Amino acid sequence: MTSLWWDTLPEHLTAPLGEPLDGDESADVVIVGAGYTGLWTAYYLLTTQPGIRVTLLEAEHAGFGASGRNGGWCSALFPASVAKVAAMSDRDSAVRLQRAMHRAVDDIGAVAESEGWDIHWAKGGTLVAARTPLQWERAQDEIAEWRRWGFGEEDYRLLGADEARQLLNATDVIGATYTPHCAAIHPARLVRHLARAVVERGGIIHEHSPVTELRPGFVRTAHGRVRAQHVVRATEGYTPRLPGYQRAIVPVYSLMIATEPLGKDVWDSIGLASRPTFSDGRHLIVYGQRTADDRLAFGGRGAPYHWGSGVLPDFDREPAVFADLWRNLVDLFPAVSGHVVTHSWGGPLGIPRDWCASVGLDPVTRMAWGGGYVGDGVGTSHLAGRTLADLIGGRETEITSLPWVGHLSPDWEPEPLRWLGVNVGLRVMGSADDVEARTGRPALRARVFSRFLG
Ligand SMILES: Cc1cc2nc3c(=O)[nH]c(=O)nc-3n(C[C@H](O)[C@H](O)[C@H](O)COP(=O)(O)OP(=O)(O)OC[C@H]3O[C@@H](n4cnc5c(N)ncnc54)[C@H](O)[C@@H]3O)c2cc1C
Repeated sequence: MTSLWWDTLPEHLTAPLGEPLDGDESADVVIVGAGYTGLWTAYYLLTTQPGIRVTLLEAEHAGFGASGRNGGWCSALFPASVAKVAAMSDRDSAVRLQRAMHRAVDDIGAVAESEGWDIHWAKGGTLVAARTPLQWERAQDEIAEWRRWGFGEEDYRLLGADEARQLLNATDVIGATYTPHCAAIHPARLVRHLARAVVERGGIIHEHSPVTELRPGFVRTAHGRVRAQHVVRATEGYTPRLPGYQRAIVPVYSLMIATEPLGKDVWDSIGLASRPTFSDGRHLIVYGQRTADDRLAFGGRGAPYHWGSGVLPDFDREPAVFADLWRNLVDLFPAVSGHVVTHSWGGPLGIPRDWCASVGLDPVTRMAWGGGYVGDGVGTSHLAGRTLADLIGGRETEITSLPWVGHLSPDWEPEPLRWLGVNVGLRVMGSADDVEARTGRPALRARVFSRFLG
């Protein structure tokens, strides 16, 4: 079953964008992977340096990866906390990075508007509901933490029970955190519009052209090579399949379900009138949005990590996880029970060993990369693409001095340690919610493991 997003694309956005590579070519910049990272990089290169020759090589079709399948939270979330980034750099740099993330959300909206892309944009912010006293305690701590870094009510705030329920009338809500820095979008519309814009500006996309080797100065497929001064790796969760990168990123699957369009009576009881994206304070992440055509699209982690960082189409589907997602959705919104799930799908996201996304260009080899966004790649990949275009263009700008630029995450452990560590970590995070529900006390094991993993 394809994702809701691919299934609801208008026909003109599903049309092929480029022939497979057949023979040798040259370019100024060759980019491996046509998801948001590769495409934003190409878009900003072509916008800031008209005439530059940019070629993308995509194993499947543009938007095949996480960019075409995600939850559609165009958020300002960065996978490493401000405190962690500050420890890697300094307070001012960490705050600048978070502010750049806030701007990235608006920049995506502004590009979509100026280009005339209908990506079902609704900037309703994000609400994370607290549904137990422990979750409420954590919500208060989180807001206090934002204040320590100088972010005010206009960026992050607490909502009391009534205000929270007016936005999101889920069961057991006793409060929430709220940030305006998020828009709900149709992710596949964004990635396919972006890919078309790249082609219209003179970029070349070779779809169905899996790269088998990346080297300084060229990349190779089974049917030819592309030589270029700059080589960009933008392969996120699929990175371990490339020779030499097996331990760079761990692919972890996130899975989603979507309901049929729901009627006015259901929406009157749930809320979400301004389409804020939503979650709650549990450890094993869940996320949702009300789509422009009035469905609930709802996702979460919980799928296992596969030995050797395996990525296969079969792993997109885990019936037990889909069933859990549905149970959780009905638990949040009893009004959806009796309605039909029309779509279920999944895909790999990419987790670096220190959970810190990065972007960079090695000035000697001229090999560049962007990724490691964990589950927060929609906004972050836009900042990555703009940054890569500046780095490749040799421009020193406000964003090229941000602290994630040039950051090198350590490699993951070899197997079997990686398999054991990641799967035990995923289990512990899952069981932490049960432990808390049973005991009413914080699950310490989850804290220990989130430290190990992050
Ligand atoms: C189910 C799910 C829900 C998510 N929800 C959200 C969300 O709501 N908000 C958010 O911010 N983030 C979310 N994410 C994460 C976000 O989607 C990703 O971080 C982001 O899309 C990554 O973009 P990318 O371009 O770096 O990678 P991808 O979109 O994965 O693109 C990589 C591309 O590289 C191609 N490729 C791989 N190997 C090769 C090769 N050898 N040769 C050529 N091409 C290759 C792949 O086919 C793929 O198209 C979610 C992810 C998933 C899976």
